[in-house]
Amino acid sequence: MKVLDRFLRYITIPTNSNSYTGTTPSTESQWQLARILVQELRQLNMDDVYLDEEHCYVYAHLKGNPNAPKIGFIAHMDTSENASDENVKPQIVYDYDGKDIRLSDTETLEVAKFPKLANFKGKTIITSDGTTLLGADDKAGIAEIMTMLQSVQNSNIPHGDIYIAFTPDEEIGEGTKYFDFDKFKADFAYTIDGEDLGELSYENFNACSIKVDIKGLSVHTGSAKNVMVNSLMIANEITNSLPKEYPENTEGYEGFYHLDNMSGDVAHTTMKFLIRDFDLDNFEKRKQIFRDIVSGLNKKYNDCITLTMPYSYANMKPVVDKYPHIIEAAKTAMKNVGVTPIIEPIRGGTDGAELSHKGLPCPNLCAGGHNFHGIHEYVCLEDMEKIVEILVEIVKQFAK
Ligand SMILES: [Zn+2]
Repeated sequence: MKVLDRFLRYITIPTNSNSYTGTTPSTESQWQLARILVQELRQLNMDDVYLDEEHCYVYAHLKGNPNAPKIGFIAHMDTSENASDENVKPQIVYDYDGKDIRLSDTETLEVAKFPKLANFKGKTIITSDGTTLLGADDKAGIAEIMTMLQSVQNSNIPHGDIYIAFTPDEEIGEGTKYFDFDKFKADFAYTIDGEDLGELSYENFNACSIKVDIKGLSVHTGSAKNVMVNSLMIANEITNSLPKEYPENTEGYEGFYHLDNMSGDVAHTTMKFLIRDFDLDNFEKRKQIFRDIVSGLNKKYNDCITLTMPYSYANMKPVVDKYPHIIEAAKTAMKNVGVTPIIEPIRGGTDGAELSHKGLPCPNLCAGGHNFHGIHEYVCLEDMEKIVEILVEIVKQFAK
C-alpha cells in the first residue's frame, strides 16, 4: 500500500482526543485506529505486535542485526480537539497551480494568509473540505512509518531492531503517560510529528503552568471603603506587573508568559498562566519573578493569593546533546535523498521531550503537514513520499 492510500485510510477514522474526559484513551474512537494499525502491522510481518488493551498504545518490533543500535519511531494517533475530524472529506489537488485553493463555499486556503503554499506549485496537495481538520498531524507520520516498514520488508533493506509505537492523547499532553518501555526497547527514537520537509528538532521549551487563586472580599459598594478586597483588581495587578513578553510578541528562542485563562468576580478569581523558556536558568528566573510579584501582593493584601506551579515538560536538548550521532544520522539521511535539513527549536513540547527525560533520547522529524489543529490543515503528497525515503535512509544508516 502506498503512503497516500494509508494516509487516506487513517484520516477517515475520527480520533479527536478530549482534555475533559480524564480517561486514557480520552476518546473511544482512538481504539478503532489502533486496531486497524495492529492488523496492518501484523500484515507487515513484524515480529511482535502488541496493543495495550487498557490504554490504547500500539507497539511493534521488527528484529534485525543484533549488533546494530536499536532504533525507534513514534507517531500519535489522536488529533487536536480544536477542530472536529468527524467525517473528513479529503480533497486532492493534483499539479497544484500555486493559487488559492477553494475548500468549500465559505472556506478558502489563501496564499496570502499561508504563503508557504506557493512552494508547492506543481505538486499534489491534500486538504479537507473546510469543515474539519485533515489529520495530517499526525496520521501523515503514521502513514510514513508504516510505508517505511513496508519498504524495509519488501526490499530486504538491512536493518537493526526497529521499534514502533503509536500513542493516544498526545494532543492533550498525555501521549507518554502510560508509555511502556518494556515493549519499546529502542536505544533512541524519533517522533515523526513535525511540519516542513527537512525539519529536525531537538530543542523545545521548558514549561510549567501557574495556577493563581485569589480570595477577595465582596461587600456593598456603598460601604466598601477600606473593607472590600476586589480579587479582579488584584488579578489585574499581577498581569500588569509581569514583563511584557507574550506569545504574540515573541519568536525563535524567546520565552514568554502567557495568560491562558482567567475567570472570577470580586470575591474570587482564578487565573492560569503558562511559562515557557528554552533556557533552564531563564525559565527558573521567570518562575521567580512570578513568585516575587505574588509575594509582594500577598504582603499588600493579607495573603489572599495562593500559587501552584505544576511542571509540564522540559527541554530535551540537554539529553539529546549527549547522543550527537542521532542528529547526524537524520541529517545524513536527509541529504542522501536530496533534502536540506532545517534545524529548528520547537516552540512547544513533544512526546519526545518527555521520553528523552525518561531515558529515551527522542528528537522530532518532519511529517509534512501544515496549519495543524484547524480546518486549513494540508499536506503535500510528494513531501510525504520523501519523508518515507528519509526514514528508510535512517534505518540504513544504523544497520551497519
Ligand atoms: Zn502532532
